[in-house]
Amino acid sequence: MPNILLLGERVERDYAAPLARELAARGVAARLAPDLPPGEVDYIVLRPGAVGADFTPFTRAKAVLSTWMGVETLVTNPTLTQPLARMVEPSMTRGMTEYVTAHVMRHHIGLDVHVHGLKGAWHRTVPPLAPERPVTVLGLGELGRSAASTLAALGFPVTGWSRSPRELPYLARTFSGRAGLHGALDGAQIVVILLPLTRGTENLLGAAEFARLAPGAVIINPARGPVIDDDALLAALDSGQVGHATLDVFRREPLPPDHPFWHHPQVTVTPHIAAETRVATAAAVLAENIAGVERGEPLRDRVDRAAGY
Ligand code: NAP
Repeated sequence: MPNILLLGERVERDYAAPLARELAARGVAARLAPDLPPGEVDYIVLRPGAVGADFTPFTRAKAVLSTWMGVETLVTNPTLTQPLARMVEPSMTRGMTEYVTAHVMRHHIGLDVHVHGLKGAWHRTVPPLAPERPVTVLGLGELGRSAASTLAALGFPVTGWSRSPRELPYLARTFSGRAGLHGALDGAQIVVILLPLTRGTENLLGAAEFARLAPGAVIINPARGPVIDDDALLAALDSGQVGHATLDVFRREPLPPDHPFWHHPQVTVTPHIAAETRVATAAAVLAENIAGVERGEPLRDRVDRAAGY
């Protein structure tokens, strides 16, 4: 019977019952608890935001399983040497695709003008159709592929960028590696960022990158705040080179009340809600992964420590 440590108050409250149920459905009888002697723990389920933990005493742990997709706070913890899995679950991917599609469509069809901007004047502006609106998606992982294929299905010519070369039939163009970044951004009218935060993506988008975009381009960032150089973005917004930024994630969260993003007329702030882990589906993913390891299968959704994601 494996011992599963539920680390963090919300993990215990939200996951204890559904995870026990999902494990039982897979024939795994487990002991789940918020405190167990470290030397007796087989699996750790945790929320990365809540952790600055020392994982050294968990000598028997076969895996650490995160309830979040982004694991930058865990891969940088030198005491965490156990195999690490991140959360990949269909509801979160669906939520992100809905968020990205909604915000792309808002800018594409000019919703702001038509909902708030007419002010009594019969002023007709006809937006271009999707095939005339180049969109670039940075990151072609779980979330990037789902968003990119949905946007492509709507007719947008979508350019994708990733670390290693990827050929995806629905993409108009693909680029990879740092050398391919400017090519991926050239002439884009909407840029969607779906990259993990790593040493290779921190401050990735600065003045030189914004200069490659079509004038007045829109940035949508539901990935991680530090991927963008904030000062460079504010300067690009003030000059008009970037027409609007929709930001869900920030260097400091909650976004401090005096941060210029709150009050900039060309910035939309959403409070890190683009894609939330849904407990029902996430508990099934965790149980399936633990049950698989118990059967001797490799851990799924394992984080590549060297790459940082
Ligand atoms: P993923 O499956 O790990 O995919 C990451 C993608 O980024 C891959 O295509 C990868 O390239 C690419 N990439 C990584 N480093 C790169 C680099 N240095 N240069 C170029 N491309 C690079 O990640 P995901 O599941 O799609 O999630 C992306 C991020 O979204 C998460 O890490 C998390 O921070 C964020 N997120 C935010 C929310 C929210 O609510 N706001 C919710 C969930 C997740 P390869 O294909 O070559 O590996």
